[in-house]
Amino acid sequence: MTLRPTVRALVAVTALLSLGGLTACSDDGGGADPQRVDVAAAFYPLQFVAERVGGDAVRVTNLTKPGAEPHDLELTPGQVGEVNQAELVVYLKGFQPAVDEAVEQAGGDRAFDVAGVQPLLDVHAGGHEHEHEGEDEAGHAGESGGKDPHLWLDPTRLATVADRLAERLGAVDPDRAADYTARARTLRADLEKLDAEFAAGLKTCQRREIVVSHTAFGYLTQRYQLEQVGMTGLTPETEPSPQRLAEVAREAREHQATTIFFETLVSPKVAETIAAQVGARTAVLDPLEGLSAGSGADYLSVMRTNLQALRTALSCS
Ligand SMILES: [Zn+2]
Ligand SMILES: [Zn+2]
Repeated sequence: MTLRPTVRALVAVTALLSLGGLTACSDDGGGADPQRVDVAAAFYPLQFVAERVGGDAVRVTNLTKPGAEPHDLELTPGQVGEVNQAELVVYLKGFQPAVDEAVEQAGGDRAFDVAGVQPLLDVHAGGHEHEHEGEDEAGHAGESGGKDPHLWLDPTRLATVADRLAERLGAVDPDRAADYTARARTLRADLEKLDAEFAAGLKTCQRREIVVSHTAFGYLTQRYQLEQVGMTGLTPETEPSPQRLAEVAREAREHQATTIFFETLVSPKVAETIAAQVGARTAVLDPLEGLSAGSGADYLSVMRTNLQALRTALSCS
């Protein structure tokens, strides 16, 4: 039996314990690596960007361990300590409530919120609607007025995050500012190449609707003129209603979907049920919220695998 005190309590306790350490931390290291900037990244895509832009000048800790789904992350006392001691916390406000709270408790001045880099898309952007049919009210995810946090699935947005992060790291560590800028430029070139591959690879396809488990792909579908039909809304843990499942099955049939996509970090059960109903197959479309444990992949390689999966499902030429 493990005890689960609230995050708020943990933050308060850890903040008290680390008060002495905070002042010493940037001067003599206080147990951290004094040669490198300690960065806490909230989840995988932010870790990827921090490592690529920071190179060997940073030490990056990912608060979401490999194989864990980040939306409902809970922080251990040790991780709250990492947020408190990090010289820079890279996070996405509104995506992981536990991280938002820890950053707020830690004061927020050492935090870099990637949600503030560019205006976020509305929840329904890149979605799929039949206005002429007047169908479903709750059907299209049942969320309205909110913002979609999954910005990393547009590679060009991630490149802009990298540019801003380089500026921020340069402010923390001015001696190496030029290195951060140069590495962000290299990363931007990689991401723009990926973007060009997506644009070309998805240009001519027989279908443009994708059936996915949670509506994580709004930035991707918006950028490449696809439309997503999600079984659940913006977070994967919500159970889809029988009505929603029936509607998704209807959409899949209507648009002759060959493939029902599921995610690496979430059970494929619902996707399999719908696929069996409509005579489609299932395949992975990875929202890159985290890597699988032990995976040797990175953001770029997973995105290229996603592109192949989309090209197959949509019969692109
Ligand atoms: Zn998500
Ligand atoms: Zn439709």
